[in-house]
Amino acid sequence: MYVGTGDIRKSKGLSKSFQWDGDYRLPGIDLAGPLQLDLKVTNAGSRVMVTGPLKTAVRLGCTRCSEDFVFPLEVDLEEEFLPVHSEEALSRAKDLLDGTFTFENDRVELDELMRQEIVAAFPIQVLCEPDCRGLCGECGANLNQENCNCSSETSDSRWAALKDWTKGSPPKSEKKRKK
Ligand SMILES: [Zn+2]
Ligand SMILES: [Zn+2]
Repeated sequence: MYVGTGDIRKSKGLSKSFQWDGDYRLPGIDLAGPLQLDLKVTNAGSRVMVTGPLKTAVRLGCTRCSEDFVFPLEVDLEEEFLPVHSEEALSRAKDLLDGTFTFENDRVELDELMRQEIVAAFPIQVLCEPDCRGLCGECGANLNQENCNCSSETSDSRWAALKDWTKGSPPKSEKKRKK
């Protein structure tokens, strides 16, 4: 997604608004709802500033039960774009391997900025619900949807192991006694 900056190029301080409200395909991100942008694009002299809110929803896979779920998010964009051939951009590009956003040909490209900001807004724990019960380690059943039989056996097996242990001890001592 490009925003033309030719109309604000003339002098520092000029700005324009840029809105988007609708479907959008953002490479590398599974958007689950419309993308909403209400941006201000400003000529800040040697650079172009892009500021304003981004609202959307993404489809994520729960790390516990692997079911997809929709995660709404809102981020405030605030990023500067340097002209690609400026000395500052070149020296920064040498110094920093991480992203300095650049622009050329009187247009600012927003996809990479949006992608980075959306990924940064993902929840720390990607869970469909905070108390997602996940999948049964034995049969793979989604424990949010059903209680499988092995889930009780699994919890039983801890007690069973304990029983075996307590059961196991006496025979050993019996053997010792027999010796
Ligand atoms: Zn889950
Ligand atoms: Zn199971």
